[in-house]
Amino acid sequence: MTKTAISALAIVAGLAMTAASDRALAQNTPASTGTTLITLGTRGGPLPTKDRAQSSNLLVVNGALYLVDAGGGVTGRIAQSGYDFRKIGKIFITHPHSDHTAGLATLMVSQWEYQRAEPTDIYGGGVAALVKGALDYLTPNAEIRWAEGKRRPMADTFHGHDVEPGLVYQDANVKVTAVENTHFHFQPGTPPYGKYKSYSYRFETPDRVVFFTGDTGPSDAVVELAKGADLYVTETTSPDAVVECVSMSWATSPPSVWICWFTESSTSVSRSSTKLLVT
Ligand SMILES: [Zn+2]
Repeated sequence: MTKTAISALAIVAGLAMTAASDRALAQNTPASTGTTLITLGTRGGPLPTKDRAQSSNLLVVNGALYLVDAGGGVTGRIAQSGYDFRKIGKIFITHPHSDHTAGLATLMVSQWEYQRAEPTDIYGGGVAALVKGALDYLTPNAEIRWAEGKRRPMADTFHGHDVEPGLVYQDANVKVTAVENTHFHFQPGTPPYGKYKSYSYRFETPDRVVFFTGDTGPSDAVVELAKGADLYVTETTSPDAVVECVSMSWATSPPSVWICWFTESSTSVSRSSTKLLVT
């Protein structure tokens, strides 16, 4: 791909919530043609921080909005990006870890309360249960709003779709293909085994191919599906961060099992698919 072709693809990457970037976002004019990627949240792991939002990306194709993951704070980040959160009708969840989904219910209720009439479809592994749970969580609010005059049930608007590897969605702007990656390692016989899957997505638009790994380990399936992509969006961590995190966990609480969130991990965007980053 030529530099000209690359530069034609607008990227707003690494949106740290600084005053400068907020001003830039406020001045952003949404593109109506072509393919634009906006990294709404680049923080890896569920630990809240003051200056990074959790995982979420907005792909804009000929003015249509496609959301990939919905980490905490995603609705506010969409508003900061200059796009209308009510116009997001297709959401793709790479996997149901909280740092990729914590903002989903908030986005749903904001769309509903601000009069989105069209359906919103959410795709991913284990997503049907996720959406059902969000609707249950939001029922008290919905019943109050109903008494205040709302007349459209939330369940009429939001639909969760559990997907399988292969083609998961297609319209005039995008063709979305998924592979299962190696993020999850469930033991056979445990509750999540076979129930929850972690996906990587390839988006083919009329002028670009954008690939999202989500969280993953080394994966031949990911490497194969990512071939030829113009943009490669992945989540990475450093070996030093892993060692530090594991050491701290062991020093403060030496259990038989512990969970270590890699606090230095982050989303990175590569313009070449020739060198895949291992997360
Ligand atoms: Zn994860």
